[in-house]
Parts: sequence; structure tokens; C-alpha cells
Amino acid sequence: MELLDGQLVSKTIKEELRLKVGQLIVEGKKIPHLAAVLVGNNGASETYVGAKVKACAETGFKSTLVRLEDDISENKLLNVIEDLNNDPDVDGILVQLPLPKHISDEKVINTIHPSKDVDGFHPINVGKMVQNLPTFISATPHGVLLMLEHYKINTKGKHAVVVGRSNIVGRPMSILLSSNTPTGNCTVTICHSHTPNLPEICRQADIIVAALGKPEFVKADMVKDGAVVIDVGITRVPDNSKKSGFALKGDVKFDEVAPRCSYITPVPGGVGPMTIAALMKNTFLACEARNGENLI
Ligand code: NDP
Repeated sequence: MELLDGQLVSKTIKEELRLKVGQLIVEGKKIPHLAAVLVGNNGASETYVGAKVKACAETGFKSTLVRLEDDISENKLLNVIEDLNNDPDVDGILVQLPLPKHISDEKVINTIHPSKDVDGFHPINVGKMVQNLPTFISATPHGVLLMLEHYKINTKGKHAVVVGRSNIVGRPMSILLSSNTPTGNCTVTICHSHTPNLPEICRQADIIVAALGKPEFVKADMVKDGAVVIDVGITRVPDNSKKSGFALKGDVKFDEVAPRCSYITPVPGGVGPMTIAALMKNTFLACEARNGENLI
């Protein structure tokens, strides 16, 4: 069994980007600028946004963190996004999800200009991804593909089972793995909460992507020997032995599943850092497009 080390791969990608930013500076060009919008003070969201801002500093990107109260009106938030859309210095905009209940995720996502939608959630970018056209691929599935690419994991002709069909993880993951690309060409089964016989389906998988948000859901008897297991899930579960009072759990029961796998991602340190690396890559791409290169 080989561990798919998201920390290591993400560090390599960020270092490559840092060198490219250095080159932009030498050429007198604009450097990437990511604007992150955080509404309220949800602990997990604070951590994710903090990690993204830190990654900007590590890669030499400029970042702006816009903090808003959780009772901000939907209209005011949409106006903040419009201002960022109109700011010529900002290349990428991300609005950390989840948003408070009185704000529509859909309206917010649709308001981000597609050319700055570095999370790859806008319907225009999702449509391009489906058609295999150049675009921003949503950060988490993109991160998974970068991981598969780094470890030279052969996906062609394999049976991939994706558990979860959300717009931000499961569905784009299933489309990307089935696309005619070097990290695609899988035969994909996508599962959700109405799928009967899920353990039996998972046992047929060469590649399992678990993205359902149920801690330790995937057990050893759901995985065939030699499978590649990608654990997207991150859930905070109470743990009094930790200073923070919680532990992070993936969707896979790591200790019992790992010995059966050819490759497996840990949680934390697997898909999480890869999501951030993919976001940085998308932001660099957005900046290149604004510098007049590599139009997407
Ligand atoms: P959602 O809650 O939006 O979607 C969960 C999906 O899992 C749904 O499609 C749901 O089915 C399905 N599901 C739930 N229970 C079951 C079950 N018992 N059997 C089969 N399918 C089930 O979650 P997200 O996609 O946003 O996130 C999934 C996990 O990934 C979470 O733990 C999240 O924190 C994590 N995550 C991690 C990221 C990272 O960077 N590592 C980034 C984004 C998310 P149905 O559609 O029928 O309801």
C-alpha cells in the first residue's frame, strides 16, 4: 500500500507556481490575486479560508480576505461580489461555502464572473468542463486528478465508483473520471443516498472516491484488494483527547481499509491540501488569461 501524500504533492505544485510568479515579476507582469469572501465565523470555514490565504503567501500570490457578518443581506453580499468582479486587480474570487441559510448559494455562484470563478462552480464553467473544454475545474475534483497524475495512477479502462453526487465534488468527479483524458477514461458508477447494494458496488471498484460526508462509512469489506481509495470526506467529530475538542475524520475507515489498497489518501493530509493546490493553479490560470495568455 502506498500513501497518496497530499501535503507533499501540494507543496511541489505550490513551489512550481512560486517560480512562475517569480518569472511574472521579472517580466513586469501582473501577479495572481485571489479574493476570498468569508461570511460569518464558522470554525471550519475559518480554517479553510485561512489555509487558502496562507497558500497565497507561500506561492507569492496577492490575497484579499473580505470578512462579512453572518447577518449580511443577500443583496449586500452580491454587491461585494460585483465590486470584486469589477476590480481589475482581482483574478480569482472564492466565496467560502456553506453560506448562512438566508443567502442562496446558487445566486452567489452565478454572480461571480466566470472568468474569476476559480472554484469552478459557475454553470458556464461546469458546462465547459462537461464538454472537456479549457476552463476552471472545481478545486476538489481537480485536486484529485492532480494527485492521480502525480502518482502516475492508470485510470484508463478502470471501474471508478464515486460515492456522493454533490455539484462541487461527486458529480464533477464522475464526469472528469469518465472523460477522454489522461486522468479519465474510467467506466464510472455514481452512487448516492438512494443507491441500493452500495457495498456490493464498491467491491467492484478499481478506484473508489468517497465524498459523502459520513465519517468512516467505507469499511474494509466494501473494498476489493488492490483498489485505489480516495477519501474526500472531512468531518469534525468530538474528541476530548484533542486540544481543539475535535478530530478530523474521513469517509473511509482508514486503519482497516488501507492494508487492502494499492493507494490510499489519508485524512487529514490527502485531498484537503490538493484542493488548495488546485485552487492556486486555477488562480494562476485566471491571472495568465488577464495577462493576455492562455485564454480560457
Ligand atoms: P454533500 O452533503 O453536498 O453531498 C453528499 C453526497 O453524499 C450526496 O450526494 C448524498 O446523496 C450522498 N450520500 C449521503 N449519505 C449517503 C449514503 N449513506 N450512501 C450513499 N450516498 C450518500 O457533501 P459534499 O459533496 O459537499 O462533501 C462531501 C464530503 O467531502 C464532506 O465531508 C465535505 O466536508 C468533504 N469535502 C472535502 C473537501 C476537501 O477539500 N477535502 C472539499 C469539499 C468537501 P443525496 O444526493 O442522495 O443526498
